[in-house]
Amino acid sequence: MALNLYDRERILVTGGAGFLGSHLCERLLENGSYVLSLDNYFTGQKRNVFHLMENKRFELIRHDIVNPIFIEVDQIYNLACPASPIHYQYNPVKTIKTSVMGSIHMLGLAKRVKATILQASTSEVYGDPTVHPQKEDYWGNVNTIGLRSCYDEGKRCAETLFFDYHRQNHVDIKIVRIFNTFGPRMHPNDGRVVSNFIVQALKNEPITIFGKGEQTRSFCYVDDLVDGLIKMMNGPEDFIGPVNLGNPVEYKIVDLAKTIIRLTRSNSKIEFHPLPMDDPKRRQPDISLAREKLSWKPKIDMEEGLLRTIDYFKDLVSEL
Ligand code: NAD
Ligand code: UDP
Repeated sequence: MALNLYDRERILVTGGAGFLGSHLCERLLENGSYVLSLDNYFTGQKRNVFHLMENKRFELIRHDIVNPIFIEVDQIYNLACPASPIHYQYNPVKTIKTSVMGSIHMLGLAKRVKATILQASTSEVYGDPTVHPQKEDYWGNVNTIGLRSCYDEGKRCAETLFFDYHRQNHVDIKIVRIFNTFGPRMHPNDGRVVSNFIVQALKNEPITIFGKGEQTRSFCYVDDLVDGLIKMMNGPEDFIGPVNLGNPVEYKIVDLAKTIIRLTRSNSKIEFHPLPMDDPKRRQPDISLAREKLSWKPKIDMEEGLLRTIDYFKDLVSEL
């Protein structure tokens, strides 16, 4: 027998109006859950979830997770945190507060209502890695006092808090370390490389490569990442992570620029700019743990993902 609307699993997504959060909310609704999106709209936008508003199983809460909140839920995906370097460096103290105080409040909530809570951690916990590709047992190479530290150290502390609430208070936790992810609904002005290059290419403006473009990243399409988040949340009870989620295909930034110019048939020229402080030189996930424990691996290849993302930005660019 079908469950009553309000008897369904209630899922809280913090950062639900952001890039990843909005795709996650959409998928959870498709799966039949009752979804509460909580956001302070710092980097998220209502337009990301506007199409979900008519769904009776969807609710929007304007709230900042640096303050406590009391609600009844069964699962919590903790995604609230600005993710692009220009956004998380805009107010670094607030970024750390969001990761640390926000995690304490969400873990406290999970403890009270006995919810399972998943933390959106990041490949940035590995810093500028000296081990390649990165496996979960690598402890990282992170600057504690640099411009990226508010994000990296905030996320590292959040992982520590998750494990301590688990050991001390038996909270059901899950930790995923997300590697660079891209797709529709990335913020056009957030400075991340895929959105920057696509917008620049569509406007036939210079493509801004930082450094020589020899640094690498591995890019995962958003639909694959969302699959991984849901698999982890509902995976084996004794598998709490941390687990890497990302696409292991490694790209040089200069090659990404050339691919985007080709796919958009752009006249843009490449322009070289100084490399920002502490910019990691190489990044590539080892996803053997996710393959083994969750039977997860990305399915959408880079060019297919880029074409879908370019389509999204074509409409947006005409409004910019
Ligand atoms: P995003 O900036 O689009 O989304 C973050 C959302 O959190 C936004 O809607 C923002 O308004 C909200 N938010 C920020 N601070 C908040 C606060 N104090 N209270 C309530 N809401 C707040 O970024 P995203 O790419 O969707 O990233 C989502 C999560 O995934 C982040 O935690 C990020 O660190 C993590 N992550 C993302 C990537 C990636 O490549 N996209 C990689 C690694 C980790
Ligand atoms: N980058 C670049 N040009 C841009 C934006 C970014 O060359 O216009 C580079 C950046 O220096 C980094 C890589 O692309 O080496 C990925 O940057 P992003 O901000 O997307 O993510 P992160 O550095 O956090 O992985």
